[in-house]
Amino acid sequence: MVTNTEVKELGHFINGEIVAGTSGHFSDVFNPSLGAVIARVPIATKEEVQSAIATAKAAFPAWRALSIGKRVEIVMKFRQLMTARMDALIDIICIESGKTIEDAKGEITRGLESVDLAINAPHLLKGEYSVNVGGNINAYSAKAPLGVVAAISPFNFPVMVPLAITTMAVAVGNSVILKPSERVPCSALFLSELWKEAGLPDGVWTVINGDKDAVNELLENPAIEAISFVGSTVVADYIYTTGSKYGKRVTALGGGKNNMIVMPDADLEQVANAFLGAAYGAASQRCMAISTIIPVGEETANKLVKVLADKIAKLKVGPYTDSDVDFGPVITKQSKDAIIGFIDRSLEEGATLVCDGRNPDIAKNSNGFYLGPTLLDNVKPGMEIYEQEVFGPARNVVRVDTLEQAIDLINAHELGNGVTIFTNNGAAARKFITEIDVGMVGVNVPIPIPVGYHNFGGWKRSRFGEGHMFGPDQARFFTKTKTISEKWFEENSESASTFAFPSNND
Ligand code: NAD
Repeated sequence: MVTNTEVKELGHFINGEIVAGTSGHFSDVFNPSLGAVIARVPIATKEEVQSAIATAKAAFPAWRALSIGKRVEIVMKFRQLMTARMDALIDIICIESGKTIEDAKGEITRGLESVDLAINAPHLLKGEYSVNVGGNINAYSAKAPLGVVAAISPFNFPVMVPLAITTMAVAVGNSVILKPSERVPCSALFLSELWKEAGLPDGVWTVINGDKDAVNELLENPAIEAISFVGSTVVADYIYTTGSKYGKRVTALGGGKNNMIVMPDADLEQVANAFLGAAYGAASQRCMAISTIIPVGEETANKLVKVLADKIAKLKVGPYTDSDVDFGPVITKQSKDAIIGFIDRSLEEGATLVCDGRNPDIAKNSNGFYLGPTLLDNVKPGMEIYEQEVFGPARNVVRVDTLEQAIDLINAHELGNGVTIFTNNGAAARKFITEIDVGMVGVNVPIPIPVGYHNFGGWKRSRFGEGHMFGPDQARFFTKTKTISEKWFEENSESASTFAFPSNND
């Protein structure tokens, strides 16, 4: 386990064991709460990735041949180990990502939903059967695993996203190669130890650490059948385009720019409380974080901004070791600087500051990558801060006069991950649900992340490909359908050649 004092040299997890990198090239892993390097992660070469793929490929036939019941038994054991080691896992998430303890717990709990879904794989794998479709022939379809599949994950959910994009793949009989974010590799390596202890055969689960070169090998290597990616939109687009070019099945989830519409009839106290957590939780580093609040009508806007300003002033930013902090640092110094740049430029473009989080008190006495909560009013479409995903605690107020304007505004944006409306008016909610072009929609629910047994994914440039994270789509994505027509001859039965195209009237 990583501690705050040692700088550990990490490895890859290949063929059931941690192996040292051979490239001689490393990337620093930080504890963002301290701004200190805690580990060095090896950056894999093309050859290392190729060798990991070969191991995964060799493990596939035996894993596929194991009964689904036995495979699920291992997944259940993995789940048990995860809950038994929950505290150690929370520690690792907090140290390498800067999340608060409660937030890390929430992430693990949501991750376990994917494990639960994978435990239900036998149900999701059931095929279809038709008896006597012609001439004593029975026809059936079965779902077969793909082979070696790759998963590439972002930094902001070191456990939940890897679990969501790999566990079903394992359960249905694939060998899986995970390339976690080089900023949070410790969580993925910890999961590897749990898989090993749960009895997963060597080679079925691999973690290869690295950067875009490792990803490129996964995209191009003919042995990789499918790619499941979660990360920023620019990279998701690249992964989808390149993976598809090399003939792979690809699902690539990208970024979000999520809005919260506030109707004049909504209870503003409830709205503000819901907004704070959804907008600033995890230092706003969630693809489903609310980035823009859209009050409908000038009166609603004026009242709401006042309520928000009072509440935001009381938020506490700090390290996860302080039990009363609302959120922690952002992931890197570069990220912090980029967010401050977004705020500075938005002011030049005409936004007005309601709360300024650019230099919070804690940042004056710590090297951690801290930013306080910033709220900008009078943000308008076309401004950079409105158009781009800002992965940090700088949030916007965009004022509109009508619900129609709010819907048009949201539909015109290139991203469509999540959205929500706060209202007590059923007709307004119904209109919003029907007309909004966004994949995950909330009504009086600030972060409408579906539970693990529903499909998760945005629309437009928030998701490329047809698959989803979570939900029954996982079982479809990681299998292919085989359709079998089967006939058994009775002893001494007669047969004859037929040259007509076979039909079901025979
Ligand atoms: P990122 O796109 O920078 O990195 C994601 C993964 O891609 C990492 O493993 C990284 O090593 C790899 N990568 C980075 N650049 C690459 C390149 N040029 N070529 C190939 N691979 C590359 O994302 P991040 O900063 O780690 O994570 C934050 C982003 O992820 C945000 O945009 C957030 O909205 C998004 N996200 C989306 C969802 C979702 O469900 N839609 C969930 C979580 C995070």
